[in-house]
Amino acid sequence: MTTAPRQHPVLTRRALLRLIAASSAGGAFVACSENSRTEPADGGQGDGGQGDGGLDADGAADASDASDGADFTDAPPDVEPPPEYEYDGPVGPENLFWHGVASGDPLSTAVMLWTRVSPEGDGPVEVFWEMAYDPDFTRRVRSGTTSTSGERDFTVKIDADGLHPGTVYFYRFRSLGRASIVGRTRTAPTRRVRSLRFAVLSCSSYASGYFHVYRSVAERTDLDAVFHLGDYIYESGGGSGDRRHDPPREILTLADYRTRYAQYRRDPDLQAVHQQHPFIAVWDDHESSNDAYADGAENHDPATDGDWVARKAASQQAYFEWMPIRQTDDGRIWRSFSFGPLLDIVMLDTRLWGRDAQATPSQSDVINDPERTLLGDDQEQWLAETLRGSTAQWRLIGQQVMMAQLLLGGVPLNADQWDGYAGSRTRFLDVLEGDAVSNVVVLTGDIHTSWANDISRDPRPGGTYDPDTGEGSLAVEFVTPSVTSSSLSSVTPAIFELLSESNPHIRWAELTQKGYVVVDVDDARVQGAWFFVTDIAQPDYTEAFAVAFSSLDGQNHLIQDDAPAPAKDDAPPSAPGLVARA
Ligand code: FE
Ligand code: CA
Repeated sequence: MTTAPRQHPVLTRRALLRLIAASSAGGAFVACSENSRTEPADGGQGDGGQGDGGLDADGAADASDASDGADFTDAPPDVEPPPEYEYDGPVGPENLFWHGVASGDPLSTAVMLWTRVSPEGDGPVEVFWEMAYDPDFTRRVRSGTTSTSGERDFTVKIDADGLHPGTVYFYRFRSLGRASIVGRTRTAPTRRVRSLRFAVLSCSSYASGYFHVYRSVAERTDLDAVFHLGDYIYESGGGSGDRRHDPPREILTLADYRTRYAQYRRDPDLQAVHQQHPFIAVWDDHESSNDAYADGAENHDPATDGDWVARKAASQQAYFEWMPIRQTDDGRIWRSFSFGPLLDIVMLDTRLWGRDAQATPSQSDVINDPERTLLGDDQEQWLAETLRGSTAQWRLIGQQVMMAQLLLGGVPLNADQWDGYAGSRTRFLDVLEGDAVSNVVVLTGDIHTSWANDISRDPRPGGTYDPDTGEGSLAVEFVTPSVTSSSLSSVTPAIFELLSESNPHIRWAELTQKGYVVVDVDDARVQGAWFFVTDIAQPDYTEAFAVAFSSLDGQNHLIQDDAPAPAKDDAPPSAPGLVARA
């Protein structure tokens, strides 16, 4: 908190406690691909294709001299002419595709495609899907037919494979004589690209205000993917007017969770950001219930809310139905992605997989009990092995709760964060230090406020961290503010001073604004740039750059930058017909 003191808002103790409560308390808020066919892969190397040698290449190199020059030589073989969509039955309802489209979990040769149909009947519905290099679908590369039904809430998920690395694709669906909007997506590169750029999002309560942040991110064309770090929906009732939660009460059942996702996906700003970018998403607590852990949640009382195991399973089923995430059978969402020699991405589940029940901040013996876990033993071991085995220059770890210490007078403020599971954080830092795992950038949501942190074992005076040099920092953390969810509206100087003294590793914090972080990765540094939007209670808005911090190659601590990375001049075209504002 020493780098930009004038930008620090300040906190009263009461405001601080409200921050902690609000970040975790929902009640406090206003509240598969079948029959697919590979088609001729025109648009490849000699044809203006948009692969690693094209739109993704950043001009750094073309496929022939790159570290991985094979991206086009393994192009899918030319086969039969692509099947056309054929249908001669009665035309389905006009709003058949009114939840839009989405894509996600980009691999180098595959990406998830998503839509939902809203037919009049209950029976199974055939859905045709197609992908092309161009938004007019003159150069189609993949297509297929699948079916959906009420069994899966009429959602459609295709794991479209056989694709080129680092390539922009357009996709759409057809069913009952109707067509969806056109979406745009992008596979991960295998070559070393000059830079990669992502937006980081979390905490998007529909009931709390307009999704200006989603609109701003949708209007960016130069992102490789979007991270959503959870609290994508909220389980609480609340809201008012056209932002009242549906159903207007806490959700508990599979039908409830499905209804809530369906409401969120009718929001045009959310539809627009899904239409434009592939998502890499993980849930936090509010996709199930406030302050969830593996075996329960603060906002789950079995006496009134029923069986936790059933509720958790219902919430996870709806998440997998509605989110463009690759399917698993066991509720596992921790997974990794390779974006070529520049970047590996690791996504964690600090909520539902293995987390022990929360302690209170004053229970220091519990907090420091090395037997307690935030991730569960298997996920923790996988994380360690993944980090040790990672050969990319950089590692982004997308996860939910703040990893850096947040102390007041040496005592943790929020035991729902990594602070409440000291053993888990120690073991993570043991891997970084013991195995010389460098260039780790942690991306975090959950707390509805903005933080730029150095992560050390002990940032307290006399500890292992030097705030003047950053020495002792083993990784850095960018905490993205909420899209809409409540943060602090009033702050004062006194406690902020106290916080600053207690937390010299927190280089910057902002506690009132809604917004997002743009993460830009190149061979010199990873930069986090915070952007804030104006009043989410008003339908119109503007956005502004707030601040940027970078971790330089091999340094593992933050320095402040003057400006965000400039817009890329080689951004591919937007999906046509970007969903308009309401
Ligand atoms: Fe949240
Ligand atoms: Ca949360």
